[in-house]
Amino acid sequence: MNKLIIIAASFLLTTSCKTPEVPKSEPKEATTTIQEIKEKDHTTFVSNQRPKNVIFLIGDGMGLTQITAGSIAKKTPLVLEKFRQIGLVKTYSTKLITDSAAGATAMATGSKTYNGAISMDIHQNKLKTIVEYAEEANWLTGIVTTATVTHATPACFYGHQPTRSRVNQKLAAEFMTKNIEVLMGGGWNYFKKGLDGRDLIAEAQEKGYFVTDDIEQVGDYRPEKMICLISPKLPPRIKERGNYLPLAAKKAIDILSYPKSNFFLMIEGAQIDWGGHQNQSDYIVEEMLDFDRTIQEAFDFAEKDGNTLVLVTADHETGGYSINGGSAKDGKVEGKFTSDYHTATMVPIFAYGPGAESFTGIMENTEIFYKLKYLMNIDSLKPASD
Ligand code: MG
Ligand code: ZN
Repeated sequence: MNKLIIIAASFLLTTSCKTPEVPKSEPKEATTTIQEIKEKDHTTFVSNQRPKNVIFLIGDGMGLTQITAGSIAKKTPLVLEKFRQIGLVKTYSTKLITDSAAGATAMATGSKTYNGAISMDIHQNKLKTIVEYAEEANWLTGIVTTATVTHATPACFYGHQPTRSRVNQKLAAEFMTKNIEVLMGGGWNYFKKGLDGRDLIAEAQEKGYFVTDDIEQVGDYRPEKMICLISPKLPPRIKERGNYLPLAAKKAIDILSYPKSNFFLMIEGAQIDWGGHQNQSDYIVEEMLDFDRTIQEAFDFAEKDGNTLVLVTADHETGGYSINGGSAKDGKVEGKFTSDYHTATMVPIFAYGPGAESFTGIMENTEIFYKLKYLMNIDSLKPASD
């Protein structure tokens, strides 16, 4: 009896539901389509819109709570609130909880690997990075961070080391073998007192880089290639480093966009993570607001340019951070932490500009690489041979 009712009901449904009418003329601007791409064992979705430039911003340790804390403290909307295409990213490495090296390797090379690896696979073979692909395709490239330029996140975009620890000088020497136009962050000493007694500062100047330790003194000067190393080792907090990151982002965009070639720029807000490790809400908020001012620089350029994809995401969350009290009116955040390390929670990704639709839904961190490689139209280039 029940079966009969179901059959009758489904008969009624299939006969009574008309297919919706298709509008006679499709609006012309609605040309974005999403297609599936397959590469080796990898499947992901990309849009058919290809950007001329990519600005890829990574908030190290920037989970949803860190973003929320920033928005409460700012009291006015974050720049991130202008982004309409939003997705979620699974951050695990070969372990459930990733570190920044494996996290950046996943996004820069498309491979999950072991914690501590600087763009090396689980067998310690080199993995070709998005910056290396871009350079090969004659894109201009830049790397900007509030950590040392040899720290895990930035290093994974140009370097290859089996471990992240005690390789600052090796990574500085590796950087010198590349042709990356802009490098900004801390770590002057690793260049000045380089591997085997080399002075990489002098070598960089010989290679045509304008080298400085103070972004504020650069002013309107726009060199073709620039290295700015703001501190001997790790850069300090905002109180001492001031407006460095937004200024560095602006200068990097200025340098890379001027010749009208394609460019890829990675910008890291590194110390959001350090605030999480120290379980300090104030530190997290301070760094989030600095990162927000930096995203503003990228967004403003992209909005004017109309041909630039801006991506904002994180390598992982840090601190198991949550907000258990405070005041939206006073911009006050009362945070609590479940860890002094990273957590396995998914992190958001925000996209703006041509290709942005590719970054909606839930994705693996490795998919970011495959989507970028396709959107940047450098997917036909050969992978690394060694
Ligand atoms: Mg980092
Ligand atoms: Zn960390």
